[in-house]
Amino acid sequence: MPLSPATVDRLAALFAAGATNKAARRELGIDVNTAARYRAKLGYGAAPQPAPNRSPLTLEEKWRTFARPVEGGHMEWTGRRPAGRPPVFTHHGREYTARTVAFRIATGRAPDGYVTAECDAPEWCVAPEHVADEPTRTQLRAALAIVTGVESPLTECTRGHDAATHRRYDRDGRPYCGTCHALTHARTAAA
Ligand SMILES: [Zn+2]
Ligand SMILES: [Zn+2]
Repeated sequence: MPLSPATVDRLAALFAAGATNKAARRELGIDVNTAARYRAKLGYGAAPQPAPNRSPLTLEEKWRTFARPVEGGHMEWTGRRPAGRPPVFTHHGREYTARTVAFRIATGRAPDGYVTAECDAPEWCVAPEHVADEPTRTQLRAALAIVTGVESPLTECTRGHDAATHRRYDRDGRPYCGTCHALTHARTAAA
């Protein structure tokens, strides 16, 4: 049964105001299919979806809900820990790695390169005071190399990459050429 012209007018006004078909049913007592049919006939698009519930927490506050202080100044992540990937969480629909945000908390800036925990719990620790980005990590490990006596006196690698720019260190402070390492990785991945 067609709607009365007065009802159609009211329906058009509701659609113009962004009402959903369900809202039209509540307002006018018509069924949702009728509302949908008239929506198309009157030329109104789909009603805007209600905004998803956004967390009122800031990125840092959300981070803190997942980080649990444990002995030794370390912090354990109670949030998501995807297999083979670093711990992560989602804030306002975007995924962040826990350590990247930890680095921002500690330094107030975005990390340069990927972030690792440079303490004795590298597998799981997310403590802001324990994480480092690429330059910080290289600096810390270079200092360790000197202390432990494994720093190399060479100024370039066997392929001629300058040590000052290309040298990196493993967790024990042992130096290696980061660029040669990356090239080998790329070759292995391509093979
Ligand atoms: Zn730690
Ligand atoms: Zn090299």
